Amino acid sequence: MRSIDIHAHLTPQCFWRATQGSGTWHTLRREQDAQGREYAVVGGHRQQLPPKARWTPEERLADMDSLGVDVHVLSPYSGFYNYDLDPSVAIATSRDSNNEIRDMISARPERFAGLATLPMQDVPAAIAELERVMTQLGFKGAMINDHVNGRTFDEPEFLPFWKAAEQMGALIMFHQGGETMVSPRNPRYHLPNTIGNLAERTVTYAALVFGGVMDACPDLQICLCHGGGYTCYGIGRMDRGWEVRPEARQLLPNPPSTYLRRFYYDCIVYTEEALRYLIDTVGIDRVVFGTDWPYDMVFDWPVSWILSLKHLTQAEKEAILWKNLERLLGL
Ligand SMILES: [Zn+2]
Repeated sequence: MRSIDIHAHLTPQCFWRATQGSGTWHTLRREQDAQGREYAVVGGHRQQLPPKARWTPEERLADMDSLGVDVHVLSPYSGFYNYDLDPSVAIATSRDSNNEIRDMISARPERFAGLATLPMQDVPAAIAELERVMTQLGFKGAMINDHVNGRTFDEPEFLPFWKAAEQMGALIMFHQGGETMVSPRNPRYHLPNTIGNLAERTVTYAALVFGGVMDACPDLQICLCHGGGYTCYGIGRMDRGWEVRPEARQLLPNPPSTYLRRFYYDCIVYTEEALRYLIDTVGIDRVVFGTDWPYDMVFDWPVSWILSLKHLTQAEKEAILWKNLERLLGL
């Protein structure tokens, strides 16, 4: 039994090295508080980093072994998207991060694969970096935020990116960065994460579908983290809106629910009932294994959790744990 984790982040060692002492990594800095907790300082904002974020590839491999995870499809830490910084900063941090992932893949190709980070505020630069990682570094695609400084990906300026990703066969995985749309409404109780991540993903589904991106790019491969958020549960209301409102049909020839099977969804939904509903709604071939390593919202024993589920067949468990990603990514 294999397991391939598509949702496993990397805070690159080049960041840790460059920010030693009072050093900077392309304007980013690092601070410690009195308790010794580490923070990245990005564009003036402090982001706490968990202890595992500093782990070396060897320490990561040992943890993967203890969890029974065979492959990490590495994606750079989402706190370093840097879309709101100068494009030159995002280009430099993307290249450094992606190069480090390339080195990890080269050293352990049976244990690591790669999703890039891209400077999405500069579409030509993002396409150039995606082309570099796909054609020269052997990556499988990229992970991007649900928006670029408030602009969602149905905006026309992003269409060349979608065309390029489709043509390159790159898997694009959506994952929030830092604050979410819930943050300004209620930043307490960890709601920006526990609700915001799911709301962000649902808006991304709707933007790509209602905005006509999925029709413009019929071979585009998209993965929505965190089970696609509320997409499956809320799809009936999107369909109803499409029926009754002309503005919902403007760019969309078919009901939104007919696009559910165009996407992939990771299994990070935390309850068996939600996972069963996701599978029954989108199809077992569309659900993939993800853990959110190394953050505190990670599944504690992810492989064991999947294997323990009572309402999934053995074939369904194998599809989620590795077969779907083996096929999708050619691993
Ligand atoms: Zn994550």
